[in-house]
Amino acid sequence: LTVLGIESSCDETAVAVVRRSAAGVEVLSSVIHSQVVKHAEYGGVVPEIAARSHVETIDDLAQRALAEAGQPDIDAVAATAGPGLIGGVMVGLSFAKGFAFARDLPLIPVNHLEGHALSARLTEDVPFPFLLLLVSGGHCQLLAVKGVGDYERLGTTIDDAAGEAFDKIAKVLGLGYPGGPALEKAANSGKVERFTLPRALLGRKDCDFSFSGLKTAAATIAYEHVKTEQDRNDLCASVQAAIARQLVERSVRAMKLFREHNAVTSPAFVVAGGVAANATVRRELQALATANGFGFMAPPLKYCTDNAAMIALAGLEHYAKLCKMGIEDRESLIVEGLAALARPRWPLDEVRAQADPVHK
Ligand code: ATP
Ligand code: MG
Ligand code: FE
Repeated sequence: LTVLGIESSCDETAVAVVRRSAAGVEVLSSVIHSQVVKHAEYGGVVPEIAARSHVETIDDLAQRALAEAGQPDIDAVAATAGPGLIGGVMVGLSFAKGFAFARDLPLIPVNHLEGHALSARLTEDVPFPFLLLLVSGGHCQLLAVKGVGDYERLGTTIDDAAGEAFDKIAKVLGLGYPGGPALEKAANSGKVERFTLPRALLGRKDCDFSFSGLKTAAATIAYEHVKTEQDRNDLCASVQAAIARQLVERSVRAMKLFREHNAVTSPAFVVAGGVAANATVRRELQALATANGFGFMAPPLKYCTDNAAMIALAGLEHYAKLCKMGIEDRESLIVEGLAALARPRWPLDEVRAQADPVHK
């Protein structure tokens, strides 16, 4: 099966071609156009600018992705249908509809979070069920991934996402946008133990996250104590360590829960989403996984942040599942795809109910 994937939910326009055969999953091409320079002067993503930029680039990008893949025969088209900035999602989804309609191909609407959730399977054959920590710009969740379209949420953030915390604190410190990578770079020259930051939700037995207290504390310290570049680097190191520590503290609870409900001898612990690109976060979560008998997997950096290869793979896995179930009624799949709606909000544990035509 060969699937063309389209991603446009935030500030990256991306198109990819992914193939799955007996030999495994192969990314034939994955092209990304980042709009970072366009949004940098505003200190964050401007939805209207993002949507327009998607319109301007998507056609060229699709041509490039197909050319780089060697103009393969495409079996289906997959596009992010949400969650995300609605204007951008509509651009990508509409483009995908046009492409699918013109070539008489089924269109699989994909939940962007499911793309992140399955991204580790682009490069490794991670078996189900696995425990997933999804840490991105808009989400921070622990999930039991039981199969394609089958997600059980174990915990989520009660306020900000981890990536959002990185971005907002970086902004307060004048590190610009996007903040996560800049904060990590500054932290590399900082002393972790310099500042003490609050630990959120310490007494709670669940797997939820909270980053807003950390954000306020960091802003206060920045205002009172950060005078030099070294001060700033030290605060970055302290913040990065605090975020990593919370991810570890919550993941360890989720590991226990996961084991109670899933009888797997050596399950995988997958970390995905933009924050999984952070080296400290990766290292500490890997140590945690090893200590608790979980295999550790994190996608290569280029598949942690937004890309279309993960969207193509999620679409491919759904399409393969439908074919296997004997739902080869291409015509109805084509009609359903063309009727798919862009959704600004779309929780991952609703994937099955919403995206799978069989369950409607
Ligand atoms: P969502 O997937 O929840 O809709 P998104 O698509 O914007 O949100 P991603 O592209 O997965 O999120 O990730 C972007 C986030 O990852 C940003 O918040 C960014 O700051 C963060 N990030 C990227 N690289 C790093 C890094 N090296 N260290 C920390 N954070 C990082
Ligand atoms: Mg982005
Ligand atoms: Fe994302």
